Amino acid sequence: MSETIFSKIIRREIPAQIVHEDELTMAFHDINPKAPVHILIIPKKEIPTLADVKEEDLHLITHIHQVAQHLAQANHLEGWKIQVNVGEKGGQEVFHLHYHLLGWPENSDL
Ligand code: 5GP
Repeated sequence: MSETIFSKIIRREIPAQIVHEDELTMAFHDINPKAPVHILIIPKKEIPTLADVKEEDLHLITHIHQVAQHLAQANHLEGWKIQVNVGEKGGQEVFHLHYHLLGWPENSDL
């Protein structure tokens, strides 16, 4: 597969506001936020879409959900949701699996 801009963010070749990193995942603020808090959580492994996830990748999916919980707590989110766009028709623009964490902090009016 051809690599995406997210691989360059993982290698820190282009800047991003990174808010979490561990052995398996990275999370950074979306450049074009659609909510008061809009963070992208990605596996470091280059998986193009959710449809490409194999059984051996399922631990990554579990881990991404744990990272989402952690970031929701760290950002004091009162409400939040996860969105994964799959394929061009599903609105996916970057073909490196990513989870959008869209959140609304406590006392947020939006
Ligand atoms: P998709 O439409 O593929 O589900 O979402 C891709 C997301 O990546 C979009 O919300 C877009 O704003 C974000 N994005 C695209 N390029 C960059 C970038 O270079 N840096 C960051 N931080 N976000 C990006």
